[in-house]
Amino acid sequence: LDLCRNAKMYYFETDHSPSMRVLGGNDQIPRALADALPDVRFNAIVESVRLTSDGVAVTYRQEDSHVTIDSDFAILAIPLTTARSMDFNSSLPSVHQKLVDEISYGAVTKVLIEYRKRFWDERGWSGRLTTDAPIVMTWHATSHFEHERGIITAYTGGGPGVKLSALSDEERIEMAVTEIEKHFPGSSKSIENVATIAWLNEPFTRGSYMALAPGDVLKHWKTLFQPAGRLFFAGEHATPVQGFMEGAVESGQRAAREILGAP
Ligand SMILES: Cc1cc2nc3c(=O)[nH]c(=O)nc-3n(C[C@H](O)[C@H](O)[C@H](O)COP(=O)(O)OP(=O)(O)OC[C@H]3O[C@@H](n4cnc5c(N)ncnc54)[C@H](O)[C@@H]3O)c2cc1C
Repeated sequence: LDLCRNAKMYYFETDHSPSMRVLGGNDQIPRALADALPDVRFNAIVESVRLTSDGVAVTYRQEDSHVTIDSDFAILAIPLTTARSMDFNSSLPSVHQKLVDEISYGAVTKVLIEYRKRFWDERGWSGRLTTDAPIVMTWHATSHFEHERGIITAYTGGGPGVKLSALSDEERIEMAVTEIEKHFPGSSKSIENVATIAWLNEPFTRGSYMALAPGDVLKHWKTLFQPAGRLFFAGEHATPVQGFMEGAVESGQRAAREILGAP
């Protein structure tokens, strides 16, 4: 079912919208949202959520102190992989607790390699590589602007992503650089910078994005859209436009509308 959904999204849209980027970086979006809100608490790690008969109690840790907020409603907008390590004090309905515990997430890794020269232009290569080597695929990440330098992204998901997540950052970078060097001898001499991330290892994501496994749709999909008492679910996982920022925003708007209309 998830494959059908993806196929519809990618292959059957006649009116393809262009690929968009946030100039200056995506982090500007949450920063701007935070600036516009009256009360945002940074470095506050939610450790416990308790559903009560008329609200939700959320406890977070900020440095050495713990603070509990008692609210009429709450929206859980964090990845369910990180919600998994929170204590719901046995207050979640069992279908929701199962959703949190079981739903599958992807294990993407990226290696970004900045080259002083876009050697691929001279060699007639687009930057796209699809290979049965461990890195699986690459693309040119800076094609949207003119510059002497350029960045190639190595993007690895699924089983290969799990394997690359288990490597150290240095080993993962080395693997990607070596693979590209194999196809384009001499290319590694013009490397200026490298960076890598394995979302599985990030404490606040513990996975890339929801990647439904066989059986997940029938077991969990509907529950994503049902509140647990006065706790609502939002985020990239709780929307039909799943896996995208657009979907995350849509889900937040949906949850807010539902709360405004709630008794
Ligand atoms: C490799 C990769 C490529 C992607 N490419 C694209 C793309 O091209 N286009 C696109 O639209 N989307 C893309 N996405 C998806 C996009 O990044 C997500 O859909 C979007 O960031 C989800 O937003 P969100 O608000 O649901 O979750 P997040 O952005 O993950 O925000 C959740 C927040 O909750 C915080 N948090 C987690 N646990 C706790 C806790 N216990 N207490 C307090 N805070 C906590 C986190 O720190 C984070 O700030 C990509 C994602 C990945 C991993």
